Amino acid sequence: MIRRSFLKSLGALSLFPLSGQAKSRKSPTPYGGQGLFLTTWRFGLESNEEAWKSLKAGGSTLDAIEQGILRCELDPHERSVGLGGRPDRDGIVTLDACIMDHEGNIGSVCGMEGIATPLSVARAVMEKTPHVMLVGDGAQQFALEQGFPLENLLVPDSEREWKQWLEKSEYQPVINIENHDTIGMIGIDAKGKLAGGCSTSGMAFKMHGRVGDSPIIGAGLYVDGAIGACTATGHGEEVIRTVGSFRVVSGMSQGLSPRDACKAAIEAIADFFKRRGKDWSNTQIGFIAINAQGETGAFALRKGFNYAVKDANSAELIDAEFLLD
Ligand code: ASP
Repeated sequence: MIRRSFLKSLGALSLFPLSGQAKSRKSPTPYGGQGLFLTTWRFGLESNEEAWKSLKAGGSTLDAIEQGILRCELDPHERSVGLGGRPDRDGIVTLDACIMDHEGNIGSVCGMEGIATPLSVARAVMEKTPHVMLVGDGAQQFALEQGFPLENLLVPDSEREWKQWLEKSEYQPVINIENHDTIGMIGIDAKGKLAGGCSTSGMAFKMHGRVGDSPIIGAGLYVDGAIGACTATGHGEEVIRTVGSFRVVSGMSQGLSPRDACKAAIEAIADFFKRRGKDWSNTQIGFIAINAQGETGAFALRKGFNYAVKDANSAELIDAEFLLD
């Protein structure tokens, strides 16, 4: 009796186990059963279309996510992902990405230079190496061995912005709370297979070597095929501190809806700020989530975060609910 209630309270508090608790869940498909994608920010609209095409052409959820994110990574006008991403304080563009599938396979690259498509490299790490994460020169070397082209990722507009930023003497990475632009995409296919990916050039003008949440499994992305998936955008240090995406999936495993699980993770971030007495006026964070039943939700720390949703019947951009105005 005592043991049972102890275990019950542990279950309510603990972040573990996830899959074990979710095995009994049924998987109806309220999204129409044809698949669904959820992507951070406005560029998610186009990326979702690309993902949808891949799915309809017979690709897996993972293939679709790779195609959707590639679309954004290869666009030189997107200034915080892939080619054209803003550089670090030394003027070097370094990219981070990670990927996770339904079965729990993972791959990640951090601080990689000169390769425009880090998500595909992360997938190659997952599929072709015995490892899960490669960083810096090692990630680039591996990418070159895999045939990825070496390119100059610093486009003139980003270089101009960096030079303007250099005119100020103090070191202050730019946190544009309206415009955090990591692409995080999660999806589910007709068979209920979940997957996710996350790709970014990170915080603009960051210290060389700084890594945010986006390539960290559990922080910027987490997928548990039996429960759901979550990805994050925004101030990566805070998402790492709270193991944000894992926290959201864990919340769903305890029975929270995707929206409520995202909200709980945002509240945890707010609590950590309060506890530490830190200024959070420049911080924005957003989570998007989907559960194994295909229900979706999102929540942000502040006003201004939107995300794109696409299924067989509709494609829309949704303003996320938020904690602070
Ligand atoms: N999450 C990214 C990072 O901290 C940045 C962003 O989403 O704007 O690197």
